Amino acid sequence: MNKPIRYSIIIPMYNEEEVIVEAYRRLKKVMNEIGEPYELIFVNDGSQDRSLEIVKDYSEWDKKVKVIDLSRNFGHQIAITAGMDYASGDAVVVIDADLQDPPELIKQMIHKWKEGYEVVYAKRTKRKGETFFKRVTASLFYRTLRSLTDVDIPVDTGDFRLIDRKVCDQMNQLHEKNRFVRGLVSWVGFKQTAVEYERDERLYGESKYPLKKMLKLSLDGITSFSYKPLKLATYAGVLLSITGFLYMVLAIYQKLFTESTVMGWSSLIVIQLIFFGFVLMILGVMGEYIGRIYEEAKDRPVYIVREMYGRKEQLRNADQVVVNQK
Ligand code: UDP
Ligand code: MG
Repeated sequence: MNKPIRYSIIIPMYNEEEVIVEAYRRLKKVMNEIGEPYELIFVNDGSQDRSLEIVKDYSEWDKKVKVIDLSRNFGHQIAITAGMDYASGDAVVVIDADLQDPPELIKQMIHKWKEGYEVVYAKRTKRKGETFFKRVTASLFYRTLRSLTDVDIPVDTGDFRLIDRKVCDQMNQLHEKNRFVRGLVSWVGFKQTAVEYERDERLYGESKYPLKKMLKLSLDGITSFSYKPLKLATYAGVLLSITGFLYMVLAIYQKLFTESTVMGWSSLIVIQLIFFGFVLMILGVMGEYIGRIYEEAKDRPVYIVREMYGRKEQLRNADQVVVNQK
């Protein structure tokens, strides 16, 4: 009989062939030093390079390695979700493949977990080697999210964290399709704490988060946890009516008491533009929410697994190849 798995390490990867060997080596080293049973779950998120072959190879001779090969690129958050569905450890750690999150920190996380914390997240104190643009947008994103949402999502925290089995089970039950994992972790609650670290440079390759994916992530984050943007409509409406009313008073005044009643058409155009701008913006915000309602209504699976490699009998839910009608 195999000993029950104590730790599951989830590593989402998308075109990480240059870095995966080193990531594997460092993770192995750390986990062997900890000396309790563990599994490494690599989730291949539709990589077009050799990432899959490399980890598949590992899974053939390393019993601790399991691979979930998704049928296409579903995105980082979904890859994590897939990993969590199949993880069987008492504690589950999510870590990036690019070694920007130092695997050595897992030891401290486990230490905190053993003290009784159910979620231990890694908080970045510094970000090395990232562009000014990335740092500014990331910082802005975390702060906007914080001010807009009702759930207490910690700032400067990515998805590098340890969660207890109880938390993982609860999160696996959540049905939403647009998954913003770090928000969901906060939402489920439990006893949470942070360990701090300096975020390293990416070892090789480049960020797999182009602006488009970052925008999607921020929109998911904000719209899944807040409907304050919808209230924009109300505020903007009130503001515009007041302005309109004041302008009317001014126009009447000018008509009655001054000579300058002929107003230029340019001012009309300006007002038109501003008003239409507002209206379109608000429609856009509503569209975002309606689009998400539509996604939920279609009720498609969140991801599709093409194949699994490694010791399937040890994977939770491994009998269901296409799962996740979240
Ligand atoms: N990733 C993924 N699917 C994607 C994009 C990224 O699985 O569509 C993985 C990627 O391989 C890495 C992690 O998610 O392990 C974080 O991505 P990245 O390092 O590019 O993000 P950044 O650190 O730049 O925010
Ligand atoms: Mg990275």
